[in-house]
Amino acid sequence: MAVLEDEGYRATAPRRAIINILAEKQEGFTAEEIGNELPAVGRATIFRTIKLLLKAGVICRLNLMDGAPKYSLSSVEHHHHTVCVRCGNVGEFRAATVERLMRGLSDDIPGNIVGHRLELYIVCDRCTGNPDD
Ligand SMILES: [Zn+2]
Ligand SMILES: [Zn+2]
Ligand SMILES: [Zn+2]
Repeated sequence: MAVLEDEGYRATAPRRAIINILAEKQEGFTAEEIGNELPAVGRATIFRTIKLLLKAGVICRLNLMDGAPKYSLSSVEHHHHTVCVRCGNVGEFRAATVERLMRGLSDDIPGNIVGHRLELYIVCDRCTGNPDD
């Protein structure tokens, strides 16, 4: 919430509600799941609020290998994600190697790189231990 207000956005009720929901689950939510959790909030408001929270850097958008993107709370610094393909658990990581690699790519790519996004799809340790789960 503080981040939101620092960015000059008011902490309106729907914004607060969506942040509270995202705080509940490590796996993140799709826009539809957020809508289901907040039946009193209109769909258009939910989409508008998600967009605003993304822009403010309060939440992250996760592109999954299949299915709709999910949204999760963000730590403020630049980071990347791991997503377990079995249980959906989302982790965040930072790696200097990745950042170096991306900078190194700039000569091989036309135009200026202004940002990047990276999701690693994994089978998490917990799931590796329980292959049938
Ligand atoms: Zn994130
Ligand atoms: Zn897992
Ligand atoms: Zn990066």
